[in-house]
Amino acid sequence: MDTNLPVSSQPRVVIVGCGFGGLRLAQQLRKAPVQVVVIDRNNYHNFQPLLYQVATGALEADSIAYPIRKIFTGQKNFFYRMADVQRIDSASNTVVTSVGDIRYDYLVLATGSLTNFFGLESIERNAMQIKSIPNALNLRSFIFQNFEKALLTEDPAEKQALLNIVVVGGGPTGVEISGSLAEMRRSVLPKDYPELNLKNMQVYLVEAGPALLGPMSKASQDDAKRYMDELGVRVLLNTSIKRYEDSRAYYSDTDFIRTENLVWAAGVNGAEVPGLPVEAITRNKRITVNSWNQVPGLPNVFAIGDVAFMTTDDMPKGLPMLAPVAQQHADQLAANLQRLLRGESPQDFKYFNKGSMAIVSRNKAVVDLPKDVHFRGFFGWLTWLFVHLMTLVGFRNKVVALIDWAFSYFSTDQALRLIIRPFSRKDMKDDQGKKSAEHRTATTEYNPTPPAIQV
Ligand SMILES: Cc1cc2nc3c(=O)[nH]c(=O)nc-3n(C[C@H](O)[C@H](O)[C@H](O)COP(=O)(O)OP(=O)(O)OC[C@H]3O[C@@H](n4cnc5c(N)ncnc54)[C@H](O)[C@@H]3O)c2cc1C
Repeated sequence: MDTNLPVSSQPRVVIVGCGFGGLRLAQQLRKAPVQVVVIDRNNYHNFQPLLYQVATGALEADSIAYPIRKIFTGQKNFFYRMADVQRIDSASNTVVTSVGDIRYDYLVLATGSLTNFFGLESIERNAMQIKSIPNALNLRSFIFQNFEKALLTEDPAEKQALLNIVVVGGGPTGVEISGSLAEMRRSVLPKDYPELNLKNMQVYLVEAGPALLGPMSKASQDDAKRYMDELGVRVLLNTSIKRYEDSRAYYSDTDFIRTENLVWAAGVNGAEVPGLPVEAITRNKRITVNSWNQVPGLPNVFAIGDVAFMTTDDMPKGLPMLAPVAQQHADQLAANLQRLLRGESPQDFKYFNKGSMAIVSRNKAVVDLPKDVHFRGFFGWLTWLFVHLMTLVGFRNKVVALIDWAFSYFSTDQALRLIIRPFSRKDMKDDQGKKSAEHRTATTEYNPTPPAIQV
């Protein structure tokens, strides 16, 4: 079965995943003499860098998602099938999907990444993650449900567990979400929950390494830590949470933080698809590619973005899992596929590092640019807002996000704290257990032994 795709005399490029890489590649092939078939399990493109704003009620989910079919309206060589890709059969040039098999001439895997729980089952079963829009909405509901429950209990330990929030992982996602939650504690919750003593609510940010924002400059790391201190976030460095049971997040065999709200942002694995040669798959489930994004031994199979493991002279440990890498891979591969079709040799990928940034809260952000340029504070915050606004897909999304941000800024309030679809720990187990079961065997190690700390 070929899922009713039209027969074409042109070669078919099948792209699995319509995230940053897959979307850009399909757009760049709009004038190429190929049939472009995009497969994604979701019928929308998700702008992941703003997920934490959905989780903390700053933006509505449909401000950061855009329907795939709408993006490609008018692109005549474009076809989309909503499906889960389950396996690749490279011998027959076919992908096996939840809606049938799809044949390819060229296959591009742009499947992104999944949360890495480092094989810690109690955490995988009970922690919240933030990789998708449903995750972000669940996180928002779950935290607000727990505030409601905190009003109902007389037990101080239970109340504290319901109010405490522990975010694990001091990278940009962890910093952004804990900063945002701390700001919510300061400006939103006192208005909504005057009966709760919010001094009992702590936001913890737990990082296994010695600094926040590991890959950024020392200046950004120090600024981020200072901002966290100003916001009252308890930052625990050189510390790892390895067990989470009975509302206790353990950072040693016996020491724990009491919390009902554990947010896991400590790492990701590649979202590999079964069927590729085992030697092409790295320890954290990424697909090894050469400098043309080609999978070794499979001349017509390519991988781009987070799932692709590519090393360069400058980056012998592999390119970072970032949106600009996925987009630059896509640009280069679009040109290379057209070179291959013309019988020319492909060209090597070169990464252009545009810099990195992280927002901590209102008026507080850090920015590193090439040539050791660093800035922070209000100007950094404005830069972050501008870059994210410009890169959001869709004019409507840009306008709605701008209005929501302007409203929050001038009113020091966030409008979006509805518990529309209540979420329970049982839903969490179902949601995460199913999606990441195959990643449980991840071999990458999560932090050595943490030192004892006082909390
Ligand atoms: C919370 C968060 C914040 C981030 N912040 C930043 C930031 O500030 N700056 C930055 O540069 N990067 C950031 N990133 C990383 C950035 O989002 C990724 O690097 C980028 O999305 C990678 O693009 P991609 O195309 O490789 O994969 P993705 O954008 O993840 O897209 C993968 C797509 O593949 C689909 N898919 C996966 N498997 C299958 C399958 N088997 N069948 C069908 N469809 C499938 C998924 O539904 C998805 O649409 C952030 C990530 C997260 C989670």
